[in-house]
Amino acid sequence: MTMPLAIITGGAQGIGCATVERFLNAGWRVAALDRDPQAVAELDERFPDQPLFAMAVDVSDEAQVKEVFQHISGWQQEGDQSEGIDLLVNNAGLADPECGPIEALSLDNWRLWQESHLTGAFLCTRASVPGLRKRQGAIVNIASTRALQSEPHCESYAAAKGGLLSMTHALAVSLGPDVRVNAICPGWIETGPWQKQANRTQPEHRDVDREQHPVGRVGEPEDVADTVVFLASDRAGFITGQHISVDGGMTRKMIYAD
Ligand code: NAD
Repeated sequence: MTMPLAIITGGAQGIGCATVERFLNAGWRVAALDRDPQAVAELDERFPDQPLFAMAVDVSDEAQVKEVFQHISGWQQEGDQSEGIDLLVNNAGLADPECGPIEALSLDNWRLWQESHLTGAFLCTRASVPGLRKRQGAIVNIASTRALQSEPHCESYAAAKGGLLSMTHALAVSLGPDVRVNAICPGWIETGPWQKQANRTQPEHRDVDREQHPVGRVGEPEDVADTVVFLASDRAGFITGQHISVDGGMTRKMIYAD
């Protein structure tokens, strides 16, 4: 029997890892692509005997992306699955928003953010579209509330995430009615417990951290993963080209200095 297939980039840690877990628990086959080989090995250990294909790959590298999609195709054939992809989650990227003052920002550094977030999403989308069209699938791009608002010295990250939002509505128009394309803008999501063992931390939040969120807490990777599940489902069948903030209401809170 053919099972639904999700491809999740940056799937070995953080939001991507929680998303991998959600889809495995929901009975999907999942291909997780992540450039950190240790995190990929730990992901495999975390979900033994599950229909998970995990591979170390840098999604901003054209040759590596081409190769990994061939491997995914082979894995699907070995599992007697028909061709096609139900979901692509473009989540991988340099999660650190701070690039330092623009006057000191080197071109190489600028490119690090654009390559991981934007080029990675472009390459994985291009490779997925034929399969997504076969199954009337969906794409979910993980952008950021920083595509909508800023702290100082986040130009590289903001530009990459803003680009991802624009690519979302452009793709929705180009790929409809076959493929729906949406984005999520996470706010502050605590990923400490979802890192590979060497980097794992337990959250320590102050009252002020919680109170700046109208919902009264900092976000968790599962908050984003659940929104991906919804956007991938038929219940979101009339939603495309949109972005939704998953931020505990933080971007809606007006702040005046005392
Ligand atoms: P994370 O660092 O915990 O996980 C990101 C994963 O992506 C890592 O495992 C990393 O190895 C992988 N990765 C990075 N670049 C890659 C590349 N070029 N190829 C393949 N894999 C790559 O980060 P996270 O906090 O879970 O962030 C996931 C996504 O959510 C990112 O796009 C980030 O910008 C976005 N986001 C996070 C937050 C937050 O507060 N955590 C807020 C807004 C947006």
